[in-house]
Amino acid sequence: MRHSIHRFSDRSGYPLQWQTMKLCVLALLFVAHTSCQANGKRTQQEPADSTLNAQHSSLNSQPSTLNLIIAGDLMQHGPQIKAAFERGQNQARLNTTDYKTGNGTYNYDECFASVKDEIERADVAIANFEVTLGGKPYTGYPQFRAPDEYLQACIDAGFDILLTANNHCVDSRRKGLERTIAMMDSLGVPHLGTYINSNVREDTYPFLLEKNGIRVVLLNFTYGTNGLPVEEPNVVNLIDTVQIRADLEKAKAMQPDVIIALPHWGIEYQQLPSPQQRELAHWLISNGVDHVIGGHPHVAQPLELSPDSLHLVAWSMGNVISNQSKPNTYGGYMVKMELTKKQSAQQGGHADTKLTDCSYMLYWVSRPSDSNNRHNYRILPIDVPDSVLTGMEQKNRHAIRASMRRLMERHGQGVKEYLW
Ligand SMILES: [Zn+2]
Repeated sequence: MRHSIHRFSDRSGYPLQWQTMKLCVLALLFVAHTSCQANGKRTQQEPADSTLNAQHSSLNSQPSTLNLIIAGDLMQHGPQIKAAFERGQNQARLNTTDYKTGNGTYNYDECFASVKDEIERADVAIANFEVTLGGKPYTGYPQFRAPDEYLQACIDAGFDILLTANNHCVDSRRKGLERTIAMMDSLGVPHLGTYINSNVREDTYPFLLEKNGIRVVLLNFTYGTNGLPVEEPNVVNLIDTVQIRADLEKAKAMQPDVIIALPHWGIEYQQLPSPQQRELAHWLISNGVDHVIGGHPHVAQPLELSPDSLHLVAWSMGNVISNQSKPNTYGGYMVKMELTKKQSAQQGGHADTKLTDCSYMLYWVSRPSDSNNRHNYRILPIDVPDSVLTGMEQKNRHAIRASMRRLMERHGQGVKEYLW
């Protein structure tokens, strides 16, 4: 199927209905499926480069696996900053009450405690960092400037790679974009999506993740920046199919085993993908992307796996953590993917990398209060026992669990829930 190439954002008025787009995606998956039957599986020639050959030959015929976890949006609203400040203040026994500028520490220990082990179990865990680290004063919605401790908390939770192309990445303008990157660099956490200038982008993007002998290219881009300008010389990856096509050409030259696109897209609070999401997913897959794992709508949207397992699309994973309380916003899922690379027995033969397992882990965010009426935020597995929850927490959990499972049952395709 051919596509005219121009900026995706210019195509918002494209007169395609949802059903039409769904048919297009299904047709694409069918084409992929039939071509898979013809080829057996996705294969690629080993690179001629001697270093890579030496590296790959060490695999011999033993398959290698890479387990990924990909999570949604790490948000940080004002009440979360206040809660972290109060927790830190309690520890440090300080009396200041101004959580925006106070000198106390910000303590997020409880936020990720119940999910940390599972996240760390993955070889690599990826999430979208949807705040800026612009320094004090800290602010929540609508323009996020989070405490630096929040980044450390996300790293301590087990996230290894952070995405920064989202609609909030210039909330504290150039200073915030650059300081966020500097903080990530100083803590040694790789990131992709925003850049201090085009030279750095050229040197580091597309992002190549190489682990366990498997090479994965990651792409990350956003529909926009909430109308705020990106100040020169900063660069934010946008949904621009001209640019993405050029990036894909560069990505393919890296000889990856898998290409995963991580778009920031969709319509807030909609549980089903928009026609524009379907159109872009279709375009990405037809241009060489293997899997598309998205975020931004603040609610979970379903996952679809093609019958041959060649293409996984997770439309939206929802918030990882936030102060949002509208229906379906205080929970979501993390995607688990197992990639397996099998080397041909013949030296210099083909390497096949398949998605050998994938599932999703549902979770929700509880906001318990302590005896001093201080709130906190805790991400919990969706089936955490009632016995550890208050009556109100049980009610909230029941609502979001029922809603997300109903959504997956009605609209999910081919991906099972991981019970944890
Ligand atoms: Zn967003």
